[in-house]
Amino acid sequence: MNSKDLDSKFEQLLTKVRRYNGADTKLLKRAWKFTKLAHTGQKRLTGEPYISHPLAAASILAEWRLDETSIIAALLHDTVEDGGAKKEDLCSEFGEDVCRLVDGVTKVSDLKLRGERKEQQLENLRKLILVMAKDLRVVLVKLADRIHNMQTLSALPKSKQVRIARETVEVYAPLAERLGIGEVKGQLEDLAFPYLYKNEYKELVKVSKPYYKKAQEYINKMKRSILKDCAKQNIRPEVHAREKHLFSLWKKLQRPNIKGDIKKVNDIVAMRVVVESVEDAYKLLGIVHSLYKPIPHLGFSDFIAQPKPNGYRSIHTKVFGPGIRPVEVQITTIHFHEHNEFGFAAHWSYSEAKQTRATPEKLDKGVMIEKKKLDWVKQLVEWQKQLTDKEEFMKAVKFDALAHRNFIFSPKGDVYDLPSKATPVDFAFAVHTDMGRHVKAAKVNGRVVSLSRKLKSGDVVQIIKTKLPKKPTRDWLEFVATENAKRGIRKHMREWKK
Ligand code: MN
Repeated sequence: MNSKDLDSKFEQLLTKVRRYNGADTKLLKRAWKFTKLAHTGQKRLTGEPYISHPLAAASILAEWRLDETSIIAALLHDTVEDGGAKKEDLCSEFGEDVCRLVDGVTKVSDLKLRGERKEQQLENLRKLILVMAKDLRVVLVKLADRIHNMQTLSALPKSKQVRIARETVEVYAPLAERLGIGEVKGQLEDLAFPYLYKNEYKELVKVSKPYYKKAQEYINKMKRSILKDCAKQNIRPEVHAREKHLFSLWKKLQRPNIKGDIKKVNDIVAMRVVVESVEDAYKLLGIVHSLYKPIPHLGFSDFIAQPKPNGYRSIHTKVFGPGIRPVEVQITTIHFHEHNEFGFAAHWSYSEAKQTRATPEKLDKGVMIEKKKLDWVKQLVEWQKQLTDKEEFMKAVKFDALAHRNFIFSPKGDVYDLPSKATPVDFAFAVHTDMGRHVKAAKVNGRVVSLSRKLKSGDVVQIIKTKLPKKPTRDWLEFVATENAKRGIRKHMREWKK
């Protein structure tokens, strides 16, 4: 690509941003000039001019409809580290927010997220989340940067390819998933796949191709029948075939009940139907079920009537398609679809809770814990969606909006959002009531501390448990900060007397 092509690609970016943001693009143009100057004469290992990279990252963010500041930060994200720009110049020209974002992205890039040791990994993940909590956009810029680096990974030396691909699968893909951008997770994994498992990748591409094709044709056949009946009822749905990502197919093939048999994977392509209203969604469900019999016991879930804990809303039904082949049909509305896709409403809290198989009561508890864990990210994300109201948005993504919160980590890296005066006992009860009843001692960042110690954001707390429930201590009521812990202690005291 020559510089003229790049300029016209930049013009396309401007058009796109104008369309959803309506903002004045003067600053974006200045950023483009600035990055061109800073990267003068520099080339990527692919042979392309260096600026093709920040431009690609910025374009990805525009796809996600992010705000101007993020896109400017993406354009500038390498100008200081890799280009010839000075940080002071960048900050004085583009202001505090852009400056902070670029700085954050650089910091995240410096973290080696895949340490040799587990503790090191945790430590780095912890730092990453703290950077992220300050401004979620840092991570979004970083994810866009990573996607483009993965797209051009073939230009790098072999030894680096594997390390970067592994980090992508182990850190960035799960991060994207946790943020609810499942599409990005799938994209990152598929980009890394050929570098990590070359032969398996090639083999799977070859083997799966006819299955994808057949499934597509099959869905198209169903689509025609469904559209015909919709026309009669005056519904105008959009029907997409949704292909399963290759890496996720590969992982599914390894499940013991599937044992590598691709014929057993019946969601290789699912059908997604998007309609205008909730009313239409139920009408459509009627149409689908009258054309194709639902598969008994296999799965009908109405997440419109009962949204998943993370807010995901859609109706899922598995039916026998023509020729009695099982097909999953997902029905949602335009409004919910936007939210499901871009609303960062991942299914992680739901599926993680589901895996902690146990009593329904425990499951319920699990969902609650997971939900709480998700809340702060979800809130950040909710806020970042309100691109139109600039001031509100700024308030939301800035750290002071979160200053009263403490992010406390379990040794496994789970994050708990606790108030500022919380103690290890609060933490224990936040993890599980049962853990609260077994507290013997606590370690913070590896050191034994008093149970009344006030925790700080970023602390890693490990609870040392007694074998049997411990006699409750009234003293704890004096120092715990959360209602949840107080309630737990009182209940424990009542029950202990009996
Ligand atoms: Mn970069």
